[in-house]
Amino acid sequence: MPPSPSLIEKIAEKLHLIPNLHGDLGSEVPRLTEPGNLTDYPPPKKWDDWVEYEAKSWPRRHAKHYMIVPTTCFNCEAGCGLLSYIEKSTLQVRKFEGNPYHPGSRGRNCAKGPATINQINDTDRILYPLKREGRRGDGRWARVSWDSALDDIAGRIRTALQEKRNNEVVYHVGRPGHEGYMDRILQSWGVDGHNSHTNICSAGARFGYAIWQMYDRPSPDHANANFILLISAHLESGHYFNPHAQRIIEGMMNGAKLAVMDPRLSNTASMADYWMPTYPGSEAAVLLAIAKVIIDENFYNRAYLCDWVNWQQYLQHERPNDEITFDNFILALKATYKEYTPEFAEKESGVPAKTIVEVARQIGRAGTRFATHNWRSAGSGNLGGWAVARCLHFLNVLTGSVGTVGGTSPSAWSKFKPTVPHKPPAQKFWNELHFPNEYPLAHYEMSFLLPHFLKEGRGKLDTYFTRVFNPVWTYPDGFSWIEALSDESKVGLHAALTPTWNETAYFADYVLPMGHASERHDIISYETHSGLWIAFRQPVLREARRKMGKPVQFTYESNPGEVWEEDEFWIELSWRIDPDGSLGIKKHFISPYRPGEKITIDEYYQYIFERTPGLPEKAAEHKMTPLDYMRKFGAFEVEQTSYNKHLRPIAAADLQDAETDSATGLIKKAGKNLGVIINGVACEGFPTPSRKQEFFSQTMIDWGWPEYTIPTYIKSHIHPDTLDRSKGEFPLVPTFRLPTLIHSRSGNAKWLYEISNRNPIWMHTSDAKKLGIQTGDLLRVTTDIGYFVDRVWVTEGIKPGVVACSHHLGRWRRPQDAVGNRWATSLVEVKAVNSHQLSVTSDQLSVTSYQLSVVSDQSSVTSDIGPRTSDLGQKWHMKTLDTIRPYKSSDPDSSRIFWSDGGVHQNITFPVHPDPISGMHCWHQKVRIEKAHAEDRYGDVFVDTQKSFAIYQEWLKMTRPAPGPNGLRRPLWLNRPLRPVEERFYL
Ligand code: SF4
Repeated sequence: MPPSPSLIEKIAEKLHLIPNLHGDLGSEVPRLTEPGNLTDYPPPKKWDDWVEYEAKSWPRRHAKHYMIVPTTCFNCEAGCGLLSYIEKSTLQVRKFEGNPYHPGSRGRNCAKGPATINQINDTDRILYPLKREGRRGDGRWARVSWDSALDDIAGRIRTALQEKRNNEVVYHVGRPGHEGYMDRILQSWGVDGHNSHTNICSAGARFGYAIWQMYDRPSPDHANANFILLISAHLESGHYFNPHAQRIIEGMMNGAKLAVMDPRLSNTASMADYWMPTYPGSEAAVLLAIAKVIIDENFYNRAYLCDWVNWQQYLQHERPNDEITFDNFILALKATYKEYTPEFAEKESGVPAKTIVEVARQIGRAGTRFATHNWRSAGSGNLGGWAVARCLHFLNVLTGSVGTVGGTSPSAWSKFKPTVPHKPPAQKFWNELHFPNEYPLAHYEMSFLLPHFLKEGRGKLDTYFTRVFNPVWTYPDGFSWIEALSDESKVGLHAALTPTWNETAYFADYVLPMGHASERHDIISYETHSGLWIAFRQPVLREARRKMGKPVQFTYESNPGEVWEEDEFWIELSWRIDPDGSLGIKKHFISPYRPGEKITIDEYYQYIFERTPGLPEKAAEHKMTPLDYMRKFGAFEVEQTSYNKHLRPIAAADLQDAETDSATGLIKKAGKNLGVIINGVACEGFPTPSRKQEFFSQTMIDWGWPEYTIPTYIKSHIHPDTLDRSKGEFPLVPTFRLPTLIHSRSGNAKWLYEISNRNPIWMHTSDAKKLGIQTGDLLRVTTDIGYFVDRVWVTEGIKPGVVACSHHLGRWRRPQDAVGNRWATSLVEVKAVNSHQLSVTSDQLSVTSYQLSVVSDQSSVTSDIGPRTSDLGQKWHMKTLDTIRPYKSSDPDSSRIFWSDGGVHQNITFPVHPDPISGMHCWHQKVRIEKAHAEDRYGDVFVDTQKSFAIYQEWLKMTRPAPGPNGLRRPLWLNRPLRPVEERFYL
């Protein structure tokens, strides 16, 4: 237990006889928060031996010695800093608090950050690698060694690669992270195997931004804004809750006004100056009405529009008879948007025209200090939801608030891209299971259609990794996922990399336990504000052991049980896929410092940090290596601000041999766009075909959508015209999250479930009165493929005529499943009846409707989980057998559980709704609301997956497939995750 360095250690460190384990902490890194009662953090020089009295020993004064090691929260993508307090005598993490040296979070966290302690101390957590016994989904598991799991999986992948079945190796990620890490792994294997959850999350909004500027996320400078407009508060109350929330509050304390467009009175909307409860899907109409006021009342930023918008191209195409002058452009705008009056917007949205005009004028007056955000919600709920983000960004363009102080910048300007060792080349494959020809503009992989693609026989998976990913529960149409995952002819091997049990891992072949935030390595960088930072996620016990002179080789040696981390797992797996180097993989996993030797995880991060601008110099000030600096402080600010990067001049050397188009100012070199001349200066501009903001999109014309060349309002699939109110039909908003919950990973966080443990249907008092419904009544909510039964909460906090339900609850486990997440999961019976049993093959019949008798921890239950294989779809029933209840464990709190309600699993009753352009799943549902039937019980779910397949096919018909110009599968200028070589873009 060595606290401060001894004299001999100090001398040995100075003489470089031993590594410098302590650094020079004489000179302080500046804190990012003002000292005060609420920001009273231990000073770094005391982090190796911090003394606090043990709360549990009160009133006795019992001093405990801690080592404080920073890491980064993993409970949303904001990546806030955490300080772990490790009790030195026991090597136990006792608590997590904020890291005041983290530029994004500045010492603050939301409830989910400190709750990391619950996750690591969860008595139900998976501690060892498990392999299934019996058939997939039976729930029988045997502990195996990491070696045997690695050898088995590596052998399969090696064979698939040798047989050129590269597209059958797929990695599917729920919560990403790993800046650049997985791209490096997958490209070293030569597979087009990246799949993500983005198309059930943010692809809609991303496409709306990308079509303007290629960058697909906004980074609002809330703290310096004069007016803030949020389309829903999803991001601010869910993701980025803390870093954005603290900056919104700063902005408001400095006089900024806040408007929130959301049918639900969210926490943020309740603090806003303007709550604009729009009818879901009408947001673009309101935004265009605001745009019209800004244009008509001359609030627009003439200079910005003139310089940075491709208005000349618009006039040429849309008004070929007009002279190409800026004034004609403004006249054209006025004529084009004349229908979008505030009164029209009021009719569509229900927001009073007067409010719309008032907000528009406030935005106009805010000018370049106008911060906006749209992430999920409207962008992810509606057919054409991507148009909401496009129309929102239109307001930033009109006011010239793109990239300004107090405005909204592209996210990429605030996101650090690491330089990694031995970067592999792009893969030579295109996986049509991820990017099918029907969706040439899909902004990310069509991940939620995977079960349907497999059912259609478009391909199969040999080796399928799910990582922190739970589509059975999180995605729409979860029973179709169960059907696909249960079928070994479609999914050869499923390895679930997960820190905790989840509904998808039940259908895996391997369950491989991966560490929580404080149990693994990673680097993170997000656009929490105008600036650029990186944070280091590190396994804190491993780091504590290293500092105490007890280093380990692999992270699982310092974690509980044999919980590992992905970074080391992928290195070891890659090494075993190509032991002799003949596949060309091994060379990407050689140490950059020790020729011919396998890279270690420390060397990987050492390499990156040595190449992080400014970090080596900063570390040198403290007499540390860059790696040791990051181990010590956990974060580094690369740039304090990141404004106006489009104005960066192009270096004279780069302009050599470049050509400039005299009409457009576009600078090209070797056939690629380099920049644009603005007012005589060669600037970087935006990475679009025009190098400007693309108000007019030739891309939309080229790819068969000429009706959407400019920002437009698209009516949602749940527009009032589609509803029959006489039948009790409502639009259901299922997209909002509770600020205290994560998706799958809060199931093992007791503090979070203590706060939030139910998800009732929100219904306005006026609707409840009409239907004779009171709070607590049981409702049957019928979707296009089934129904769920939930209680109602009657409230004024929702727009009349709209219902809403949070998607965070309704976790479950079946009797045969491993016990896990008992703070959150109800015990359920899942039954399937194959509606076409007589027409399936005898092989299929032999596994249809088998019975399992399982003794669980709570009861002995016979469960029928239905057929193994069916391309035909089935009828699925889920019933609650037992609610959440107290249980005995080594954590005394488990016997103090006072709640029994874990909520209802609504997402599983939703069909897939792929937007034909962005590829986003359109979450909102047209539902029929009625009082529960006599046989209905709370938590009941019914789904017909034959119907869900039929709805998938209906939506598929809306697409306008590739090829586009020159036989392209998708536009070259738009981003594609894990981008293959360019030749694969052509059909
Ligand atoms: S905002 Fe996100 S990253 Fe920050 S503490 Fe909360 S969950 Fe963790």
